[in-house]
Amino acid sequence: MTDYPCTVEHCDRPAGADAFVCPRCTNALFRDLVSVRWLVDQLAVTLARLDRLGGPAGAGDGGEPMPAYYPAVQAFSTLLHTVQPWAHSVAERTRTPLAVANHPWPLARWLAGNVDAVRGMTDGGQLAGEIRYAVTVTRGVIDRPPDLFYAGPCTACGVDLYCHADNRGRPAVAVIRCRGCGEQYDTVKRREWLLNAVEDRIASLSEIARAVPAVAGREIRFGTLRVWVNRGRLVPRAWLHNGQVYAQRQSSKDRPLCRIGDVLDLIGKHD
Ligand SMILES: [Zn+2]
Ligand SMILES: [Zn+2]
Repeated sequence: MTDYPCTVEHCDRPAGADAFVCPRCTNALFRDLVSVRWLVDQLAVTLARLDRLGGPAGAGDGGEPMPAYYPAVQAFSTLLHTVQPWAHSVAERTRTPLAVANHPWPLARWLAGNVDAVRGMTDGGQLAGEIRYAVTVTRGVIDRPPDLFYAGPCTACGVDLYCHADNRGRPAVAVIRCRGCGEQYDTVKRREWLLNAVEDRIASLSEIARAVPAVAGREIRFGTLRVWVNRGRLVPRAWLHNGQVYAQRQSSKDRPLCRIGDVLDLIGKHD
């Protein structure tokens, strides 16, 4: 029996007998892996472009904005290309067949069922670190406030308009200029247009949390929205079940989809 220190970065707890990852980091790894299901659900909604209002995260100053879904595509790919090689590597070393779909969630679930094997691997700490990184990147795509927000299509040429936002997600300029034809729009008027256009949209809570600053000029936390749904203050208009939208709840794991206008009413936008 040999006791090594935990091989996870920034952790110096004892890993335990013949293990390389301490119990606490093993639990954290397990939680990261099982969170992949929720993360993938959220990315699916983003990819379905229910959230064009979410804004393209990561676009450079003055540069061509990336499509709104691009960071979600990247995050999905990062997740897949992190869990996939590690799952294959663990399967090979433990001589366990890996008969799961080549998709982040089945692979992550399989790894979650094999965290004890991971604890015994000399590179278990590296695995835990890489999974943490992929999960953090994905959370960032889902949670971060927009750098730019979608301000609707140009009425003259149809090109999508984007407006830079300040660090609280509010419009940073008074005039939005179309990149396609140079037509100019008053930011305040565009916000009113946007407000009317979004009211009847339904979106997931994280999407609403991202869209509200752009249309209402104030932040709303994802956690607040969840509390409102749990307490019945905010009534879901639809449910996301296995990536499909249903009018009725199909299972207890379904994600609520709410009407953005209902949220604006609750935060007093219409007072
Ligand atoms: Zn540790
Ligand atoms: Zn234009």
